[in-house]
Amino acid sequence: MEWIFQKTGLINHYLPEKQLGNQPIRVLHNIVLYMFIHNDSSFHIKLIEAALSKGMNSQVDIEYGDVPLLIQSGRFRTPQVGAEKKLIIHETFLSYCWIMSYVIFILYVETVNHPKLNKVHGKVVKKINAIEIQKAEELFNYGRSLIVDYTEWDKENLPNPEIYLAENRDYPEQTNMYFTEAIRFVLCHEYIHITEHIDQFVEEKLSDEDILRMEKEADEKAIQIIQKGMTPGREFIYECGIIIGILSMFFMTNNTKQKRHPDLEDRLINAINILGLTDNHMAWGMSCVALKLWDDQFDLQFDWDDEPQSDKMQFYKIIEQIKDRKSNA
Ligand SMILES: [Zn+2]
Repeated sequence: MEWIFQKTGLINHYLPEKQLGNQPIRVLHNIVLYMFIHNDSSFHIKLIEAALSKGMNSQVDIEYGDVPLLIQSGRFRTPQVGAEKKLIIHETFLSYCWIMSYVIFILYVETVNHPKLNKVHGKVVKKINAIEIQKAEELFNYGRSLIVDYTEWDKENLPNPEIYLAENRDYPEQTNMYFTEAIRFVLCHEYIHITEHIDQFVEEKLSDEDILRMEKEADEKAIQIIQKGMTPGREFIYECGIIIGILSMFFMTNNTKQKRHPDLEDRLINAINILGLTDNHMAWGMSCVALKLWDDQFDLQFDWDDEPQSDKMQFYKIIEQIKDRKSNA
């Protein structure tokens, strides 16, 4: 555990005898599972009960393989419930989510938060780091390439959770906090499907409306589970993680329409409403950063305010345009 106090030189978290998988995200697999199981002091007991009364498989399966997120048109290796009610999550999905957490968080800090602080103080109190911005943009390009094409993560040149300089540890280590919360959210969402929905899938013919209702319910109850385990004073980390988890899905397609889920902007707004985000919550700025990346990625050409009154107002201005375009389509 010497790395905790390390101030200079390389930090390498990889333990070959303990960590499976080829991707640098392997160093966080155990932490992700631990965080899920120990959501709050009684959640591990709920999991045991789910195993006994609902037949939930008590193992969470991390699938390995150097493959992209895309399986075939419209189908992705996103977390799912597999045979024998087992929670399955793929390591490429974990890599993808860490990358999007990193990119959204760092671009928020460097391009939204620091400029805002400098403006308030009327002088440079936080220097904008052009190199960090560039690295985040390069990492975004790698992350979105993983959707359709698997290539190796360039650990020497791109930020990653496995190996980095102690001098540059802040951004990857802060990213880990948001990433683990984003994954906690998606695992809790699947847990609700297992404990409350899957038997209905098997027994009944479900309409599209039934499925949409279940998806909405899974998001809502997942958030409620997480809220139960939040450490007071650190709620923003959980809240940003949940929002990042939903924002990460935008980059997979050029529109928000979903086949078996509520449309993405509705999932996002639903989560924001349940969380009751305050007007100056950093999740608004993070959402704007992600929507701008998505706009640039697919050349959507939304109309952005150059000098928005607040990140929240900017956010709703873009959401309105997403909705308008759908109703005019
Ligand atoms: Zn679902």
